[in-house]
Amino acid sequence: MQIESGVSLKPYNTFGLPAVAQTLVRITGDADVRRVVDHPQLGRAPKFILGGGSNIVLTRDMPQVVLKVEVRGIRLVETRENAWIVEAGAGESWHELVVWTLAHGLPGLENMALIPGTVGAAPVQNIGAYGVELKDRFESLDAVDLVTGRSVTLGPSICAFGYRDSVFKHSLANRSVITRVRLRLPRPWQPVVGYLDIARRMHDDGVAAPTPQQVADWVCAIRRAKLPDPATIGNAGSFFKNPVVSPEQCRDIIGRDPEIVHYPLPDGTIKLAAGWMIDACGWKGKTVGKAGVYEKQALVLVNRGGAIGSEVMTLARAIQESVYGRFGIRLEPEPVVV
Ligand SMILES: Cc1cc2nc3c(=O)[nH]c(=O)nc-3n(C[C@H](O)[C@H](O)[C@H](O)COP(=O)(O)OP(=O)(O)OC[C@H]3O[C@@H](n4cnc5c(N)ncnc54)[C@H](O)[C@@H]3O)c2cc1C
Repeated sequence: MQIESGVSLKPYNTFGLPAVAQTLVRITGDADVRRVVDHPQLGRAPKFILGGGSNIVLTRDMPQVVLKVEVRGIRLVETRENAWIVEAGAGESWHELVVWTLAHGLPGLENMALIPGTVGAAPVQNIGAYGVELKDRFESLDAVDLVTGRSVTLGPSICAFGYRDSVFKHSLANRSVITRVRLRLPRPWQPVVGYLDIARRMHDDGVAAPTPQQVADWVCAIRRAKLPDPATIGNAGSFFKNPVVSPEQCRDIIGRDPEIVHYPLPDGTIKLAAGWMIDACGWKGKTVGKAGVYEKQALVLVNRGGAIGSEVMTLARAIQESVYGRFGIRLEPEPVVV
């Protein structure tokens, strides 16, 4: 276990926001978490669990003990008649895991290619893209409790996955360190190509029966065209969740804004496109201080260079107010504000 003091977190968050961790501990396995729990000073101190920092907004220096999860290793652990089970350390890069599975002939994660961050954070917000969510490929995970030091294996029902949500955002937030995740990749493989952008690529390339690698390549190309690369423009991906409303609320909004982009969900509720609403309020491309709204996608807030977390949050609040004023909908941030 490595304990460091006064560590700059700027390189450890994709927004590139400045903040200093008073204490940072690198976690390479369950035993490191237990050493923290048993440590005379660290054991009782409040903790913050850090993965790749791609879904956080740092607004201040961190007095909490930052546990930076760096558990490594990827392996095929089981071959069943109807699935492959792959296990990955929580500190592995999610995208590198997708690449590894494809290289080993174990498809199923390709729609979630190029999502930034670590494997351990993937269940926290039930990551998803292009018609597939983590919960659709989830088998189980290992976690260590930060109060008792006990290791547990949790299945899907305890994880309580929802839209960009799980138990790790509620009762187990900063309480359970996820150390390993197991994914169930269904056999035989079936491509998921219903999403409009992918269907268009299939049509344009004249492909009727794509390979997993083709789907991954299309997803990567679509994402590169739409989203800013955090290596060049600081950001945390979609800044707001798409709000879900009742049919009555939706009818009311359509009455006033007939063009609003919306998607009916299987349970009868309706998902509204937050990016469309932000754009309709005139925010696309705008800058406030050193934070701004990405020119190609109004759902993404960016660091124009040298921004601090409070500037990002001032911009976010201004957007929330205009969207509320026009549509009566309160947008909820997707990243964790620290
Ligand atoms: C350009 C861009 C595009 C994105 N696109 C998508 C997308 O398409 N779909 C999507 O769902 N998300 C997307 N995101 C958001 C982000 O990639 C995911 O939320 C990702 O899972 C965050 O991983 P991370 O390791 O960076 O987590 P962090 O930002 O480090 O942490 C996020 C949360 O998870 C907790 N956490 C992290 N690791 C652990 C662990 N091992 N155990 C317990 N808790 C932990 C943290 O405490 C924090 O609350 C995007 C982000 C960016 C920058």
